[in-house]
Amino acid sequence: MTRGADCVVVGGGPAGLTTAYELGKYGKSSVVFEGGDDVGGLSKTCEYRGYRFDIGGHRFFTKVDYVQELWIEILGDEFLSRPRLSRIYYRGKMFDYPLKPMNALLGLGIFESVRIGLSYLRASFFPSKEERNFEQWVSNRFGKRLFEIFFKTYTEKVWGIPCDQISAEWAAQRIKNLDLRAAVINAFLGARKRGGKEVITTLIERFQYPRFGPGQMWRACADKLRAAGNQVELGSMVTRLRHDGQRVIAATVKRKDGAEEEVAAPHFVSTMPVRDLLRALDPPPPPEVIAANDRLRYRDFLTVAVIVDAEELFPDNWIYIHAPDVKVGRIQNYKNWSPDMVPDASKTALGLEYFVQEGDELWAMSDEDLVALATAECERLDLVPKGSVEGGSVIREKKAYPVYDDVYKEALEEIRAWLGTLENLQLVGRNGQHRYNNQDHSMMSGVFAARNIAGEQHDVWAVNVEQDYHEEKREGEASGATGERLVPGRVTERELEDVLASTFARYDQLALGVAVGVVVGIMLFLATVVLLLRGGPGVGYHLSILGHYLPGYSVSWAGAVIGFFEAAVVGFLHGWLISKLINVIVGREERRLRTRLAAASASPDSIARGDSE
Ligand SMILES: Cc1cc2nc3c(=O)[nH]c(=O)nc-3n(C[C@H](O)[C@H](O)[C@H](O)COP(=O)(O)OP(=O)(O)OC[C@H]3O[C@@H](n4cnc5c(N)ncnc54)[C@H](O)[C@@H]3O)c2cc1C
Repeated sequence: MTRGADCVVVGGGPAGLTTAYELGKYGKSSVVFEGGDDVGGLSKTCEYRGYRFDIGGHRFFTKVDYVQELWIEILGDEFLSRPRLSRIYYRGKMFDYPLKPMNALLGLGIFESVRIGLSYLRASFFPSKEERNFEQWVSNRFGKRLFEIFFKTYTEKVWGIPCDQISAEWAAQRIKNLDLRAAVINAFLGARKRGGKEVITTLIERFQYPRFGPGQMWRACADKLRAAGNQVELGSMVTRLRHDGQRVIAATVKRKDGAEEEVAAPHFVSTMPVRDLLRALDPPPPPEVIAANDRLRYRDFLTVAVIVDAEELFPDNWIYIHAPDVKVGRIQNYKNWSPDMVPDASKTALGLEYFVQEGDELWAMSDEDLVALATAECERLDLVPKGSVEGGSVIREKKAYPVYDDVYKEALEEIRAWLGTLENLQLVGRNGQHRYNNQDHSMMSGVFAARNIAGEQHDVWAVNVEQDYHEEKREGEASGATGERLVPGRVTERELEDVLASTFARYDQLALGVAVGVVVGIMLFLATVVLLLRGGPGVGYHLSILGHYLPGYSVSWAGAVIGFFEAAVVGFLHGWLISKLINVIVGREERRLRTRLAAASASPDSIARGDSE
C-alpha cells in the first residue's frame, strides 16, 4: 500500500532526517522508517541514570554554510559553542593533540626527540616510493619514528588491522594538513602571512554542540518533521526493497512485534548500510555484485559509560589512549562537552571507547565484565581515583566505521554501477554510501537527494570528495555559501593559481631560521645540563670540543647559557640559508612549469583534455 508520501526514507539518522527535512522545503512529504528505538543513528545520545552519552563524542563543525544554517534552524539557542581540548596519553604523559613540537619535545625527552627529528629528515630525503598504505603515507610525512609513537598503536586499535593494510586514502582524508614543518614553524612563531594569505592551517579550537548532546538535534528535527505532517516511525526495520529492475516499487517494513507492511512510493532514499541494502533487494542483484558486496567490511564500536564520584578529573573533552597495555582507545569526558550532560555536578561521566569486531572477545563480554574492565583500565592509567567508579553501562554499536581497506573501492564502484540502474533509489549518508562521512557530509548528501527528487540535478556521491576537509579550515578560505562547493567542478584559473601557490609555497626563511635556531640552542643547552648533572671526572670532554667553534662555550653552567645563544645563532643561519636555497630551487621549478603551462594552454588539444579530466 502507499502512505501517500512522496518518498520513503530508510533510516532516521542525520542523513535520513535531513533528506526528509529538505524535501519539506520543496513541499514534498516523507515517511521515515527507523529500525531503532530512537532517532539520530550514530549521532544519537544515550542515557544511563540521567547521565548522557554520545556514541563517541560528536562535534558539530562544518565548512558548509547551508548545514550550519540547518543546525541553527533546528536547534536555535540550544546549540552551544564549546572549547576543544584533546590530548594523547602515551607513556604516562599527556601530549597535545594535534602534536605541538615543544610539548612533544619536553614530553618525550631529548634523545627520543632527536630520533624523531632524524627519522623525519630521513623520510624527507629518502621517502618510500610507494604510498599505498597508511604506514607509508604517514611515515613519508612525519618520519617512521613519529609514526610508531603517535599513529601506529591508536590506528591499529581503531581499525583492528595492521597499518600497512589500511589505505593511504584514509590517512590523506583525515590528517593531510597536519604538516610537521608547518607545525614546527607555527609552534615557534604562530601563523604568518605569505603573499597576503594565511598559509598555516589552524585546527578547530572550538566546536558547536547541543546542550543535551547530538541526539537533541535529531529529536528536534524529527519533532519538526512530524509537526509538518511527515511520518517518522521508530522500531520499523526495512527488510526488503522490491524492484522491477528499473525502479524500486515498495519497501517491506518489519515492526518490533513482528508485523510487516509493504509501503510503496515514487522515491526511495536509503541510509542503511550498503551491504544490508544489497541483501534486502528483491530480486537480488547478479552474483558478481553480491560477491563485491560481501567484500565491504565494517568496524564495530562499544562505549562503556561509567559514573565517577569526582567533580573534576581532567580538562579534556577526550583523550586518545596510545598506551599499548590497555585495550581502551579513547576516553570521553562528557561534562566537558556540555555541563548539562550530567545531572549531578559533583560527579563525572566518562565514556571509554573500545573499537571492536562484532562477535570478538570484547563484544561478547558481559556488560558487567566490560564495566569492570573499563574501571580497571582508567584506574591503571591513573585517570580516576581508585574505588571512585560508581557504576556503568555498555552501548554496543554495529557498523560504526565503514572500512577503507585495499578492496573496498573497487567493490563499491561495482555496486554503485549496478545500483545506478534503479532510477528512483538514492544512497546517502555514512554507511549508506560506505564513506567516512561526518554529520555534515551525511546531511549534505541527504540535501542533494531531496533536491534531486524536487527536480534539480546533483551528484550525491560528489559530497566529501575534498580529501583535506575533515579537521582543518584554512584561515581566509571562503566557506561555501551552499553545499555546491563540495561538488568538484572544472578547475578555474584561480583554483589553478591556488594549487600552484601551495605546491610551490616558499619556506618562510625567518620562521625556519628561528625554529632551527631555538631547537639547536635548546639541544646544546640540555646536553650540557645533562652532563653537568651526571658529573664525574672528565665529564663532557667530547662536547667541550665545541668550544673551538663557539667562543666562550664549555661544559659549565655559564657555558650552557653561552652555548644556547651561540648555537641558536648558528642554527638560525643554517635554517635561513637552507630555506633560502630551497626557495631558489623551488622558484626556478615554478617558473619552468608556468612557462610550460602557458605554452600548453595555447594548444586547443590540451584545453579539451583538461576539461574532460
Ligand atoms: C565514534 C564516532 C564518532 C563520530 N564523531 C563525529 C563527530 O565528532 N562529528 C560529526 O559530525 N560526526 C561524527 N561521527 C559521524 C556521524 O556519526 C555520522 O556521520 C552520522 O551519524 C551519519 O548519519 P547517517 O544518517 O548517514 O547514518 P547513521 O547515523 O548510521 O544512521 C542510520 C540510521 O539508519 C537506521 N537503519 C539502518 N538500517 C535500517 C533499516 N534496514 N531499516 C530502518 N532503519 C535502518 C539505523 O538504525 C540508524 O539509526 C562519528 C561517528 C562515530 C562512529
